[in-house]
Amino acid sequence: MFEHTRVAQLILMRPGGHRRLHRTTIPPGAASTALTPIHSLRHRRRNLLHFPFASLFPPSAFLLSSLAPCLRGSMNPKTMMAPGVAVRDPELLEKKKAAIRSAGPVNVQVIADFDGTLTKYWINGIRGQTSHGLLQQGNQVYDAKRQALYEYYHPLEISPDIPIEEKTKLMEEWWEKTHGLLIEGGLTYDAIKRSVSESTIAFRDGVVELFEFLEKRGVPVLVFSAGLADIIEEVFRQKLHRSFENIKVVSNRMVFDETGRLIAFKGKTIHVLNKNEHALDMAAPVHDNFGDPNESDPDNSLVKKRTNVLLLGDHIGDLGMSDGLNYENRVAIGFLNTNTETSLQNYVDAFDIVYLNDGSMGGVLELVTQLCPQDP
Ligand SMILES: [Mg+2]
Repeated sequence: MFEHTRVAQLILMRPGGHRRLHRTTIPPGAASTALTPIHSLRHRRRNLLHFPFASLFPPSAFLLSSLAPCLRGSMNPKTMMAPGVAVRDPELLEKKKAAIRSAGPVNVQVIADFDGTLTKYWINGIRGQTSHGLLQQGNQVYDAKRQALYEYYHPLEISPDIPIEEKTKLMEEWWEKTHGLLIEGGLTYDAIKRSVSESTIAFRDGVVELFEFLEKRGVPVLVFSAGLADIIEEVFRQKLHRSFENIKVVSNRMVFDETGRLIAFKGKTIHVLNKNEHALDMAAPVHDNFGDPNESDPDNSLVKKRTNVLLLGDHIGDLGMSDGLNYENRVAIGFLNTNTETSLQNYVDAFDIVYLNDGSMGGVLELVTQLCPQDP
């Protein structure tokens, strides 16, 4: 019980943790009141719309009876629904696909969010953890300090009354203070490795095949997160057992001393409200050593020339990940993992394709197979 409680507290203390509160292994009664108890989550999950997921693309027209009222109400009449997938405007999508296909894989790049996009939302019936949530620092004093930060900043983050400029400054403060506590509290790289090995985190089915396909075609993948790059890269190492030359992680990056103790963070802080500003400048390759996000990367100029973008995210805010790019065509793919009934309309309005019900990456793999059918 202690371990579970500690995990719950750590999740609450992470900046941006409110988006990740439910992705945990916390049993009933172990979490603070700010967490939704797991029994309640399971109840809610049973009540979510469950579609037999089919990784078909493009989908055949098939209206789900349970969503029909929503579709009849206000959804674009062109929207096409199939089990587990919605396409906002099939005609427009086909046009984008044709343009991307004819420009070839040398002009394509993928920008992907990490948590809830590349990773599963549910794992064996419980919420999967996030790159933030899995970290177990193992220092209760600092755990409590970060909890206090969460309790102060989270209400500000979700307040509708604070102007965006002011809120951005507050988020910077929150992230930087939390990073400071991780340093003061003596976080070690060994603790990150241990946390990842003990975590409940998993990539969606089909992610490896997708990465392999894109690597073969020389298509770069930018993994963009307001979390911690070192943790994300450790998840890649431990869960995929290999690295991909075409993948770069853009996230907050730690500096460790020779004993493996955290001493600093590199570069500008990436938080939930500036996830659109640092995409290429902070990119670093995934490899066995620590990358330096402040070094100029010759690949960046090449990536900027790739004007056809496939964007993967699980929040509408993830669409901002491509803001720094002068893209010609963008196919935005959203994973709607929860609150399907209330969020479907917004997701369909925002993304070209929406996958429901925590589906696999099979549909995306099928899409890139169509976009990049030949070796470059
Ligand atoms: Mg996410």
